[in-house]
Amino acid sequence: MDKPIRVAIVGSGPSGMYAADALISQTVIPVSVDVIDKLPVPFGLVRYGVAPDHLSIRSVRDTLDKVFDKPGVRFVGNVEVGKDIPVANLRDFFDATVFTYGASRDRRLGIPGEDLDGSVAATDLVAWYCGHPEADRATFERLIPSATSAVVVGVGNVAVDVTRVLAKTVGELIHTDMPEYVFETLRRSPITDIHVLGRRGPAQATYTTKELRELGELLDSDIVVDPADLVFDEASDQLIATDKAIARNVDVVKEWATRSESGKSRRIHLHFMARPVELLGDGRVHEVVVERTELDGTGAARGTGETFVIPADLVVRSVGYRGQPLAGVPFDETRSVIPNLDGRVQDGTQVVVGQYVAGWIKRGPTGIIGTNKKDATASVASLLADVGELPTAPLATTGDFDKWLAAAGVCAVGNEGWRAIDAAERALGATNGRDRTTIATNQDLLRAAHLVSD
Ligand code: NAP
Repeated sequence: MDKPIRVAIVGSGPSGMYAADALISQTVIPVSVDVIDKLPVPFGLVRYGVAPDHLSIRSVRDTLDKVFDKPGVRFVGNVEVGKDIPVANLRDFFDATVFTYGASRDRRLGIPGEDLDGSVAATDLVAWYCGHPEADRATFERLIPSATSAVVVGVGNVAVDVTRVLAKTVGELIHTDMPEYVFETLRRSPITDIHVLGRRGPAQATYTTKELRELGELLDSDIVVDPADLVFDEASDQLIATDKAIARNVDVVKEWATRSESGKSRRIHLHFMARPVELLGDGRVHEVVVERTELDGTGAARGTGETFVIPADLVVRSVGYRGQPLAGVPFDETRSVIPNLDGRVQDGTQVVVGQYVAGWIKRGPTGIIGTNKKDATASVASLLADVGELPTAPLATTGDFDKWLAAAGVCAVGNEGWRAIDAAERALGATNGRDRTTIATNQDLLRAAHLVSD
């Protein structure tokens, strides 16, 4: 086969970039790949999800970026599939499409008061401090400078990230690529207490030890753990005995439970066996009603009916991400994923020819960045195995696709535009003695890409 097959990848987060890499790195089938993203910049949650102070994890973007240096891979940013171009139209330009657009929305708690002012999704708070162009700046710049006590619901790594960012001094964050307005807002934060709620015990928490430990090492925040919260049943003991990572997590919180406060300005209260049942407030949230729970012997927790109240003017719901449907692609509403078999999109029992899926929108929002490499490579293996059976797209050239986008009035950011944005962010960072500062509006990003003028 001489003519390369044309593949569209929808979403330039880690799974999309790993899929592009897997396609372009094999030498059996010639492939040309367009990595399409609705934002003018690539890398999805590596840019807008990984905590800015986790520099080594964020440096994965340098590895992902190298994929755009490979011949045959293009970035096509600022193009929203489903809005700027319907999924059905992609078939005109691409022989196959891989959906890797992740899980961008938050899961809900489903309790009264959840929508009070001051109750926010961790996904939105993270988007704000990472400089996402669609973040609700006004809300966070109003809420954070007027909050003294925060509750973070959940004990996964995202909960740990938002707790750490809220608890750190600006001095501990100033070297990061957060936009200037984030520092300004955090500098004005009067938050003294952050309560983190785990509905099960310390053996059931989903954070990882490295991330957990950081909460106990902050410059101006004490960590407070009530020994009475350290509840273990037989199933927990079994977990601790068989899973080293869980045993390490438990050791960390046990040590914290022996600490006394050292008089730092902020306190992180880590609660276990505690789940929110209602948010109370008059317009804005003021209190969280928390129910004590007990382990039921199967690893789950049930309510005891005993409640207590935590004052809170900021509540961050960090209970997981949720995928969204995309018009023209089957969707499993129960699991919030695109149904698939080995990465081949399924509509009921039928395979949808030419459609593939990888990453969080394939398997749900779990795993670390590296998990997506194996996942994306497996989906690409299915695509490559099907190549002989894929119907050829009638307009499968980069020129035809670019012409269609231009005629539709879509201002796409290509590799050159992204390189220009990258250079502009580094230059902006250098003016403040940092490696990089994130440019945080679409208009400024397009200006940096030389696609709009002042
Ligand atoms: P997660 O690990 O699934 O954590 C969700 C948390 O929310 C759990 O503690 C869960 O408790 C709790 N929860 C769910 N529903 C709840 C409810 N109704 N009431 C109270 N609590 C509730 O998800 P995540 O923190 O959003 O992270 C997503 C993925 O990204 C994970 O795989 C994570 O490891 C990864 N990540 C990694 C890093 C890193 O490596 N540094 C950073 C960020 C994210 P139960 O366990 O009881 O359900």
